[in-house]
Amino acid sequence: MQQPEPQSFDRVLSSMCTEPHPAARGAAERFLASNPGDPATYETIAATEERAVELLARLTSHPTPIDATGYVTSGGTEANVQAVRSARNRHDASDVNVVVPESGHFSFHKAAELLDVGLRTVPVDDDYRARTDAVEAAVDASTALVVGVAGSTEYGRVDPIPELTRIAHDAGARMHVDAAWGGFLLPFTGHAWAFDDAAVDTLTIDPHKFGQAPVPAGGLLARDAAAMDALAVDTPYLETRSQATLTGTRSGAGVAGAVAAMEALWPDGYRESAERAADNAAWLADALADRGYQVVEPELPLVAAAVPEREFDALREAGWKVSRTGAGELRVVCMPHVTREALRQFVADLDRIRG
Ligand SMILES: *Cc1c(COP(=O)(O)O)cnc(C)c1O
Repeated sequence: MQQPEPQSFDRVLSSMCTEPHPAARGAAERFLASNPGDPATYETIAATEERAVELLARLTSHPTPIDATGYVTSGGTEANVQAVRSARNRHDASDVNVVVPESGHFSFHKAAELLDVGLRTVPVDDDYRARTDAVEAAVDASTALVVGVAGSTEYGRVDPIPELTRIAHDAGARMHVDAAWGGFLLPFTGHAWAFDDAAVDTLTIDPHKFGQAPVPAGGLLARDAAAMDALAVDTPYLETRSQATLTGTRSGAGVAGAVAAMEALWPDGYRESAERAADNAAWLADALADRGYQVVEPELPLVAAAVPEREFDALREAGWKVSRTGAGELRVVCMPHVTREALRQFVADLDRIRG
């Protein structure tokens, strides 16, 4: 059989992944067979992972870096599952629950099911942000964790993280921020979202999304080493005594690729990507609004607009990889590979479809 060729990113408008930085590609290839899950054997990649955590900590506590702990996960899903697991293990109650805004990623449903934790989903406001009054009403003594989203998957919205953190801590719960997608954009905006903006306990940030690292490279960070200790299990046949990760053998490629991308791009490369993406999102939002579509004003570079089903289907037919929000709006994620030229072509195709 002929070797399969990866698809081009040319018409991919719906993905939160993107083309990796060239340096990250090379680094990933060199470490394909290294296993950071066995750090006593694979010492080089283990040291590289410490560097990854240091770099991620710098992004999430900027300009004053904190000494965060954590590791490179298989993605945002694993990081979110582990954050729930850590909070559950540290919470002294039998019937534990987690409070998540309805804009929260579906990985929290997986976490709740796997960990046998109650999921309390709370409504968002008219602009798709967590309602603090609803969160306040939902927390109780059994709440182990409150989740805030910093860059929601559907609309790119940022929840009021400092207020949610206060509510969580007042209730005796811990605070988790899911910045899986937004984490590499938010250092260049005015949002309060991370460790130096609030007493956030744990945080998800994925190098394999806006970090321009190869898949798989997610990130879980914790302010306090105790959050990671709560995840550790004994490892009888390894030289290291315990392991806090969810997976055993892990991708050295993900770790090395993440470090190479961050070394190459933080901060100026990421700032440039973030600014270009913001300009592209604003341009697309205007172009769609000019044509009479109802557009959800972009906050981070993610545009949602009410496009009729027939037109949506015709765009897919023309090869555009677009997706829909839960409410059925067209959703375009302006990742680094999405150029202005591609968006012009996209809008031209839309005009042709509209006739
Ligand atoms: C993408 C995303 C996730 C899931 O991350 P994976 O890497 O796909 O597992 C979680 N939360 C948010 C906000 C995301 O955008």
